[in-house]
Amino acid sequence: MNLGLSGKTALVTAASKGIGKSVAEELVSEGCNVAICSRTRSDLEQTADEIKQKYNVDISWSVCDLNKAADIEATFNIVQKQFGKIDILVNNCGGPIPGFFQDMSDEDWVHAFEQVFLSAVRFSNYVIPGMIVKQWGRIINITSISVKQPIDNLILSNSFRTGLIGFAKSLSNEFAKYNITVNNIAPGYTLTNRLYDLAVGRAKQAGKSHEEILADMAKQVPMNRLARPEEIGSLVAFLCSNQAGYITGNTIHVDGGWVKGLF
Ligand code: NAD
Repeated sequence: MNLGLSGKTALVTAASKGIGKSVAEELVSEGCNVAICSRTRSDLEQTADEIKQKYNVDISWSVCDLNKAADIEATFNIVQKQFGKIDILVNNCGGPIPGFFQDMSDEDWVHAFEQVFLSAVRFSNYVIPGMIVKQWGRIINITSISVKQPIDNLILSNSFRTGLIGFAKSLSNEFAKYNITVNNIAPGYTLTNRLYDLAVGRAKQAGKSHEEILADMAKQVPMNRLARPEEIGSLVAFLCSNQAGYITGNTIHVDGGWVKGLF
């Protein structure tokens, strides 16, 4: 299927690694001009080099801490100046710290709010005026399956990601008339470095190997395996296409059937 994304400009946040990086690669492979951002310059340089070697395409990158309003503004300005437009915004972020309610301080709540929720609000605020002018836009938020089934020990994620879903639904209603779609992707267990590190940490606590921990995660999934990051990337690419132009306000699980509920 030709997704018709050639020449579109996409900004993917928190994209030096993991799911964000896979999204960036997928959009590059579909012919988009891609800009990525994250906190660490060396990681960004490495990812840009890898993509250049694999696809023979330069991507734009900028250092941006999603918790800092000034960094978000600067990143938007860099990409806007470089390409003259942003057609696609993919709001990804690092995972908020784990913990239960009584583990969290006021600062932890504020930090997670800025990281997960406000960063997406701020970037959306910057890109939407240009999308209205072009009468075309795609905003996709990478959330988590926790929006459907809250996960124990992840109270910050459970709280703010569901807020983001409400925000996205409101945006989708407000801006559908400009041909702007807004959707969320809710990944289940996805084999990124983050999940690998998490498994190594849990393995130490449980006195097991990290392979056993990863296998235990996979056993919870009807597909009996973890997602590959590119399986999130390909859904992003489809949601960006014209073929997906009538899909908006939705949250799509990519979880191998992990959620047992109907909706
Ligand atoms: P990852 O740790 O592999 O990558 C996270 C990326 O975010 C990195 O590029 C990192 O540099 C960047 N980042 C972190 N904090 C940042 C900040 N303050 N400002 C800018 N960039 C920042 O993580 P991942 O596994 O790819 O997960 C991506 C998102 O998807 C996370 O929010 C995670 O909670 C969520 N998620 C992951 C899984 C999974 O199993 N991997 C499942 C569901 C949801």
